Amino acid sequence: MKSVLITGCNRGLGLGLVQQLVQRPSPPKHLIATCRNPQQAEALTSIAAQHKNVHVLQIDVKDFGSYDNFAKQVQSIVKEDGINVLFNSAGISSKFTRVNLVKVEQMTDNFVTNTVAPLMLTKVLLSELKKASKNNESAPKGSQRAVVINMSSVLGSIAQNNQGGFYPYRASKSALNAVTRSLSLDLKDDGILAVSLHPGWVQTDMGGKQAPLTVEQSTQAIIKFVEGLTDKHNGGFYQYDGSQLPW
Ligand code: NDP
Repeated sequence: MKSVLITGCNRGLGLGLVQQLVQRPSPPKHLIATCRNPQQAEALTSIAAQHKNVHVLQIDVKDFGSYDNFAKQVQSIVKEDGINVLFNSAGISSKFTRVNLVKVEQMTDNFVTNTVAPLMLTKVLLSELKKASKNNESAPKGSQRAVVINMSSVLGSIAQNNQGGFYPYRASKSALNAVTRSLSLDLKDDGILAVSLHPGWVQTDMGGKQAPLTVEQSTQAIIKFVEGLTDKHNGGFYQYDGSQLPW
């Protein structure tokens, strides 16, 4: 993982991934950590102050008009290296939505942030992913070349939905899984893998305090999983420990 870009790094899993990656014996050469508001992202900016390889870039993933400019900023950092690993981690959840309570805005907000943004961000960063893949053509497909990790959720699994509710979140993550599968096919010939990943139920603002996994446990496992990705994982739906989930 020479060159990594992660969205949603102000807190939660995005921040946890940054914390793990900077501690590694060989940290990424370029670690681009994005957040909506760098002025308020104290934990992230203090990591960046201590690690020259960490670049904090501002992006609200719903602000599609800013994407072209964002891609130019990314390009000026990574230059010929491109991007090996894109983590689409930023996400929202309208919780506990029962059929009598669900609102149009919840459906559209979850869809725009959790489904449309990861796709459009992948699209605008495609040239960087292709560059990284091409530069490392002799390596096996995986994180040494280029991978897109779409942070999905087991709640997006239709087969495992035994409880109902959660309409906005479930539908947005099921749709993200459909996006992942199409990306995996469309980008195959460029040597770019795409997978959907359930991080586990994790103690973040979204996961809540009662979640069984700490951010550290989840992000350590995620990095191990991403490093072990091969062609056989392409287009699949996995959880943090590498086990496959049903669609
Ligand atoms: P948190 O709620 O803790 O953090 C969400 C992050 O996403 C924050 O950094 C937030 O930024 C960012 N974000 C939200 N909307 C936008 C936006 N429009 N533009 C830019 N950034 C945005 O969530 P987690 O870290 O727990 O979740 C990360 C991912 O993992 C999500 O996709 C989530 O669906 C998924 N996931 C999490 C699980 C869990 O148990 N925690 C379980 C299954 C999946 P800001 O701080 O500015 O609000």
